[in-house]
Amino acid sequence: MLGAMMHRPLLLSSLIDHAARRHGETEIVSVETVGAQIDRSSWRAVAADAKRLASLLERRGLTRGDRVATLAWNNRRHLELYYGVAGAGFVCHTINPRLTPEHIAYIVKDAQDKILFFDRTFLPIVAGLVGDLPSVQAFVLMGPRDEEAAAAISGLQFYDEILANEGDAGYLWPDFDENSASSLCYTSGTTGMPKGVLYSHRSTILHALGVNQPDGLGLRAADVVMPVVPMFHVNAWGVPYIGAIIGCKLVMPGPNLDGASLAKLIAAENVTVAFGVPTIWMGLLGELDKTGAKLPSLERTVVGGSAAPPSMIAAFRDKHDVELVHAWGMTETSPIATVNQLLGKHAALGAEEKAQLRAAQGRPVFGVELRIVDDEGEPLPEDGATQGKLQIRGHWIVARYFGQETEASTGDGWFDTGDVSTIDPDGFMVIRDRAKDIVKSGGEWISTVELENIAMSHPAVASAAAIAARHPKWDERPVVIVQKRPGKEVSEEELIAWYDGKVAKWQKPDRAIFVEALPLGGTGKVLKNRLREDFGDVLIREGGA
Ligand code: AMP
Repeated sequence: MLGAMMHRPLLLSSLIDHAARRHGETEIVSVETVGAQIDRSSWRAVAADAKRLASLLERRGLTRGDRVATLAWNNRRHLELYYGVAGAGFVCHTINPRLTPEHIAYIVKDAQDKILFFDRTFLPIVAGLVGDLPSVQAFVLMGPRDEEAAAAISGLQFYDEILANEGDAGYLWPDFDENSASSLCYTSGTTGMPKGVLYSHRSTILHALGVNQPDGLGLRAADVVMPVVPMFHVNAWGVPYIGAIIGCKLVMPGPNLDGASLAKLIAAENVTVAFGVPTIWMGLLGELDKTGAKLPSLERTVVGGSAAPPSMIAAFRDKHDVELVHAWGMTETSPIATVNQLLGKHAALGAEEKAQLRAAQGRPVFGVELRIVDDEGEPLPEDGATQGKLQIRGHWIVARYFGQETEASTGDGWFDTGDVSTIDPDGFMVIRDRAKDIVKSGGEWISTVELENIAMSHPAVASAAAIAARHPKWDERPVVIVQKRPGKEVSEEELIAWYDGKVAKWQKPDRAIFVEALPLGGTGKVLKNRLREDFGDVLIREGGA
């Protein structure tokens, strides 16, 4: 027998309607792309603009499922695009502007984007690509009229003008199937061409509800939330959607993501919770160390995208009384799947034991399931020690990549993440490595994440990346590439000695190599493939034994 309850489709338009109706006055603060001026709007005004946008896209003849692309920072107009495009039944395709122009052209072609909205910063990229984007019928600059830009791209349109001239704030959101596509994001493509992940209205809302439980992100209406994680990287981890559900004030940092700009913005807007990758928090901590400034409003920062070094968690806690919450996910998982919050039974633990637990990537939230398997796909014990390939399934996990017929998952319905992990009996998951990064030394596995964390706990080290270097006897041996803190010194010998007593002797890196700066990819992650190209043969060249 079927239940006899109402069925309302889970549509993103219902989120922005709710925010406008129940939190209409709550502020949306946004740093403008040009001149870093502050734009102050509200959920009500954002909702009205989203409707103007939706109505004009419909009038221009777009049909359900058509893709509309954005090349933009985290700002108010981008938020309006999120809701206006998806709410009308089109697909908001967020493009990472830090990709190479070739990758951007490939992605636009693959997605068959019909309209491209972009921030002023990206005018040179777009102007250079105009001729290579045959699917795009209109280019729209996200701002007021700008004569210099108009001269650079013929037929260029301006967001503020088209909304004012063609938009209808009385537009009524259409109803359609909740499984319809809402947004599209491509994987970062460090190996091979990027692949598209096509989220649905349903998966996006279930993700937002699922990850914001009290033991998840735990955001509330009274919070002031700043997503530093870009809206072009997996929907800014769902923050724009969670924000509308709870009706909190959002602070969108625009293009200025350096420590000084963020510290200023957090203080000026009383931000309570902020989201970003480790490199962002490294920049903020560095700035606070330099100036001695404090951020009294800030309660939590959420970190993910790559492993948060325990030394960073400690620095936020001890120097700033800020809790750094570790989360894990990927483009294919919407992205959040695990969040690190302690359990009741941990209350009595000492600071050291608590810190160790907090370093894990966290426990799966309801809505996703995790398992670890061996090379044959057989499940492995969750004892906190056995390492295996991490697999996931759930309401917001990719089934097929965009434009592909074949399932992305294993035969029995799990998605293989490409990560190697342990899971303990309480469900705390620790990422040991990407499968392709782990060092296989004489048949033993060495976690590069662990080696990096140890290097970064040295006071002279700003950032570190460990890689597998080819070795004539052991196949691979770990080598750590290190960026020193400005004005601090450490020798190779001293740094390798720093590992004594922290890992087994055979796990210590063979070499520590100092560089000016580690190469970072489009989403702020260290480009290990680049480091392997540069340093992968260093032990062979040196005749390591
Ligand atoms: P992306 O799809 O670009 O977001 O990359 C996803 C990958 O980033 C995951 O498969 C992990 O390897 C890595 N990652 C994300 N969050 C974390 C984390 N908290 N700790 C370690 N690795 C992470």
